[in-house]
Amino acid sequence: MTRNINILNLSNIKINLLDLNRDEINQFISSLGAKSFSTIQIMKWIYDYHCTDFSKMSNISKILRYQLEKKSYIFAPSFTQENISHDGTIKWITSLGNDYIETVYIPEKKRSTLCISSQIGCALNCDFCATGKIGFKRNLTVSEIIAQIWQANKILKKKNINQSITNVVFMGMGEPLLNLRNVVSAIKIILDEYAFKLSKRRITVSTSGIVPALNKLINMTDICLAISLHAPNDTIRNNIMPINQKYNIQSLLDAVLKYLKQSHANHGGVTIEYVMLNGINDSKKNAEELAILLHNIPSKINLIPWNPFFNSRFSCSTHDNIHCFARLLRRKGFTTIIRKNRGDDINAACGQLIGSYIKK
Ligand code: SAH
Ligand code: SF4
Repeated sequence: MTRNINILNLSNIKINLLDLNRDEINQFISSLGAKSFSTIQIMKWIYDYHCTDFSKMSNISKILRYQLEKKSYIFAPSFTQENISHDGTIKWITSLGNDYIETVYIPEKKRSTLCISSQIGCALNCDFCATGKIGFKRNLTVSEIIAQIWQANKILKKKNINQSITNVVFMGMGEPLLNLRNVVSAIKIILDEYAFKLSKRRITVSTSGIVPALNKLINMTDICLAISLHAPNDTIRNNIMPINQKYNIQSLLDAVLKYLKQSHANHGGVTIEYVMLNGINDSKKNAEELAILLHNIPSKINLIPWNPFFNSRFSCSTHDNIHCFARLLRRKGFTTIIRKNRGDDINAACGQLIGSYIKK
């Protein structure tokens, strides 16, 4: 992270303050000769008031404002398209050069969750996922990750929706653990009491299981973990998730256990995501196998009805199969939730995010 600051201090390239977490803003402004309390003032302007214009930051000295203007800027790419579902879910699209990312707002009674993207596309090519089908374009920068929350809060305020974002899930486009450095820096900003102020129990990183990155993560940040398991054994998982050929289920669950041991955020256990694919992973035998596999992993299981997309070889498990699968797991003592499909009429549901360019 300090790399950015050093580079930018030596050159004339301006720095986007949305790329920096609090420590980094501190370093940056101390390099300008200013005191650290200005960091908090600047962050309040940015995150509480959505102010991007240094000249309006009235409690900051004129000299510092002049230097900030010369050396930095505040820029959050704005949403270029908005689709609102009949159930209140909103999908926002952000255009980034020739590419697009998607962000989904999911309001519920007592909370509102923002599902954010961490990459443009995804390299992991899970067979059941539309994002996987478009391949990998690039990692998002910290500011591009953060901008999704910043813009969402700003728009919700404008729409007079009092509930700002209470939960953030890295379940949009991309594999967050393959963009570890930027994702962790963004998480610091999401947790910061002078930025988004969310607790670690309200931030979830979902991963398909990049084991070495997961092993590093615990020394970097403590947040809630969701594991895209989707299969009760390596044969099925290899078939639908190529990453399993590199890091198999056992190595993934070992890393999960290690994370849980050190984590305070995951006190109720890890979330296991399991997409229900007709005839692939949804039999009674599969449920029994899953229960054995997870017997020593403190976990709650989310069964996700598979969401269709064009040209896929899969179909979703039947309603009866999903409920039978859930009953069996519950009988074995697992908290099991069948996830509701939100925003499927606007293609905002899990796994349907493709960046609209593919439709053009
Ligand atoms: N790359 C990360 C996070 C983004 S995917 C991961 O894989 O965990 C978010 C969740 O949506 C994952 O659990 C993923 O497996 C699931 N998903 C992908 N495609 C889906 C689809 N078509 N229907 C339902 N869930 C899907
Ligand atoms: Fe990538 Fe996650 Fe989709 Fe797999 S499920 S292709 S890891 S976004």
